[in-house]
Amino acid sequence: MSKGVLATDKRGIRELGAEEKVGWDEVTQGVTLNSFVGESENAAFLKAEERNYNDFNSYTATVASWRIIKPVYNRDICIDCQNCWVWCPDTSIISRDKQMLGIDYDHCKGCGVCVEVCPTNPKSLLMFGEAEETEAALASWPEKKKKEK
Ligand code: SF4
Ligand code: SF4
Repeated sequence: MSKGVLATDKRGIRELGAEEKVGWDEVTQGVTLNSFVGESENAAFLKAEERNYNDFNSYTATVASWRIIKPVYNRDICIDCQNCWVWCPDTSIISRDKQMLGIDYDHCKGCGVCVEVCPTNPKSLLMFGEAEETEAALASWPEKKKKEK
């Protein structure tokens, strides 16, 4: 009988009552885990939320609880340069047709790389405490810095 794999925030731990499933550290060596259910040839052309992910695909597991700080995005300043999208190590910048749309907070780990590479003045992404409301963060956005002569 084939075994399913758990993809929850408790991955790696066998859950009580889920004996037909195994954790990531219990998978038999050499086993193939399909990322998608059914046909997957066109997956690259679909938006992430339209793909039919398997339950054990890491996309289905949120890491939001890992963060203590989060990036907040300010659309008013962004120039859609895509730097943040290129550099985010967790593919957590949402961009469509080369337009920055925001942050995938289910998968963002709060590393701050996107803020570091944002070139605008002031930056279009800034780190705030995880509990900060977006409106309050946007209201406290810094002014443009003047060049020192
Ligand atoms: S904080 Fe890190 S993980 Fe989150 S969107 Fe920015 S670069 Fe990606
Ligand atoms: S790096 Fe900054 S300016 Fe460029 S797309 Fe991202 S948020 Fe916008």
